Amino acid sequence: MTTLDALDPAALAALHERLAAQYGELQARGLKLDLTRGKPSAEQLDLSNALLALPGEGEFRAADGTDCRNYGGLAGLPELRAIWSELLGIPTAQLVAGGASSLTMMRDVLTYALLHGRDASPRPWGREDVVRFVCPVPGYDRHFAMLEALGIEMITVDMTETGPDVDAIERLVATDPTVKGMWLVPTYANPTGDTTTLEVAARLAAMPAAAPDFTVMWDNAYAVHHLTEDEAKAVDILGLAAGSGHPDRFVVFASSSKITFAGAGVAFLAGSAGTVAWYLKHLAYGSIGPDKLNQLRHARFFEDAEGVRALMRRHRDILAPKFAAVEEILEERLGGRGVATWSKPLGGYFVDLDVVEGTARRVVALAKDAGIALTPAGSAYPHGDDPRDRNIRLAPSFPPVEELREAMDGVATCVLLAAAEARLA
Ligand code: PLP
Repeated sequence: MTTLDALDPAALAALHERLAAQYGELQARGLKLDLTRGKPSAEQLDLSNALLALPGEGEFRAADGTDCRNYGGLAGLPELRAIWSELLGIPTAQLVAGGASSLTMMRDVLTYALLHGRDASPRPWGREDVVRFVCPVPGYDRHFAMLEALGIEMITVDMTETGPDVDAIERLVATDPTVKGMWLVPTYANPTGDTTTLEVAARLAAMPAAAPDFTVMWDNAYAVHHLTEDEAKAVDILGLAAGSGHPDRFVVFASSSKITFAGAGVAFLAGSAGTVAWYLKHLAYGSIGPDKLNQLRHARFFEDAEGVRALMRRHRDILAPKFAAVEEILEERLGGRGVATWSKPLGGYFVDLDVVEGTARRVVALAKDAGIALTPAGSAYPHGDDPRDRNIRLAPSFPPVEELREAMDGVATCVLLAAAEARLA
């Protein structure tokens, strides 16, 4: 296969003409396909339909006899926390089960820090002149949007196959007390699919920080979302942090959004005993307790951690062929052309596509005009600004596999056409 770079001007012009014709045919098909958000498909949601009948009429008592219909139990139902405790390797006492969204818990943590400070804060973050966060990129757009909405500045570092660029982070954090924290999706990151290694995690736990309240938002949203049998193991990040003398550094988040129902799951927060007490103290001003009936039906549905793992294997059976289709089409259409590289994730919800520099926006616009919705170019960067305009996040989970194939073939045409245009320019 010849790379576009190796073509002489006449061959390149001929290729461009062929691609433009192919694109015209694509447009004429009047497609209406969507690869934008990492949502579970209806087939995946169906796997948890038994929840709709749980806990069942007359069933409302937790294992310890608590009447789940009533107020109370701010930290969440112990039996459900015990299941996630085993999955995440975190003691139940350090794990809170909350409402349906872990993003809300993340926003609450940041808001409490801004209004009140963390226990080690010299003053509330909101009274600092400037608060800055380290953001591995490409990363999760909603993390960045949250910081922007709260007035927290963002400093980017690269995400790599072993986790975030920890050399850069150590340098940033060591001397600058305005750097108050960082985001990290440690397992099968959104969107790169990279998993942070034990070595990188240990360095993040041990590194000296100028800010005494430096906080790592450890968003383990894809902790059990394996696509292969080569399963990433949860790092005992709270144990590492405690052992390194920074017990309060990490706030861990997890969620059943992409395990049971994305809109009606259970979210989890964990940390040191001190962090959990801090969180619950502030939460108590806004809640008398979570939806324990939802937690009870989840506990009954799963029974134990193995129940969660078994369900995740069924998700894998649905998702793996979709990721395989994306890989197959990208390789077939773009492999060896020198126009794109892409991730081959072992878990999570995304494929990360890097196209020719300066063409990502054009690819997304071309796809849109052909009826294929892609996440806006640059959305995996703070303020939507990808300095190299090359990154596109693909979300293969939602469409049926045939639609996905059609969409990916169209995307490949757009990538090639935009690359040919750029070379001709
Ligand atoms: N964190 C990450 C990294 C995600 O990718 C997502 C959803 O895409 C979420 C959090 C959302 O979690 P929740 O549904 O629990 O708010």
